[in-house]
Amino acid sequence: MTENKYDVAIIGGGISGLSALHFLKLKQPSLSVKLFEADSRLGGTIGTDNIDGFSLDWGPNGFLDREPITLQMVEQLGLTDSLERANDNVSHRFILRDNKLRSVPMSPPKFMTSSILPVSGRLRVMM
Ligand SMILES: Cc1cc2nc3c(=O)[nH]c(=O)nc-3n(C[C@H](O)[C@H](O)[C@H](O)COP(=O)(O)OP(=O)(O)OC[C@H]3O[C@@H](n4cnc5c(N)ncnc54)[C@H](O)[C@@H]3O)c2cc1C
Repeated sequence: MTENKYDVAIIGGGISGLSALHFLKLKQPSLSVKLFEADSRLGGTIGTDNIDGFSLDWGPNGFLDREPITLQMVEQLGLTDSLERANDNVSHRFILRDNKLRSVPMSPPKFMTSSILPVSGRLRVMM
C-alpha cells in the first residue's frame, strides 16, 4: 500500500465521521482508514466555549440514552466519568431570538403558541 491509498476514506470529522472511524477501527482493525476534515478542528457542529467559568455549547448539548450504542461508545472511549447528566436545572431552556431570551417549549401545543419561531416558521415545522 502506498501512502495515499486507503481501504476507507471518511469525509468529515463531525460526530458521524468520528463514530464511523471509531467503529471501523473496533470491528475491522486491519483496514486502513483516512478521515478528511476541511476545518482546522474536529467535531463539526459540536463545540463548547469556556468563558468566565461557564460552558457554552454551540448547539448540541446532549444525547438520548435509550439506545445503548451511544453509551457503549462513551464507555469504549473512557469518557463515562466525564458525562454530565441532565438535571432539573437544565429542564428550562432558552433560545436567543431578536435579542430576547425565549423559553423553549417542551410539548407540541406549547410550541405552537410560543414565540420561539415566527408564525411562518412554526407552520413550516408542523407541516
Ligand atoms: C443548534 C443545534 C442543536 C442541536 N442539539 C442536539 C442535541 O442536543 N443532541 C443531538 O443529538 N443532536 C443535536 N443537534 C444535531 C447534531 O448536532 C447533528 O445531528 C450532528 O452534530 C451532525 O453531525 P455530522 O457529523 O453528521 O455533521 P457535522 O457536525 O456537520 O460535521 C460534518 C463535518 O464534515 C466536514 N466537511 C464537510 N464537507 C467536507 C469535505 N468536503 N471535506 C472534508 N470535510 C468536510 C465539516 O467541516 C464538518 O466538520 C443539534 C444541532 C443544532 C444545529
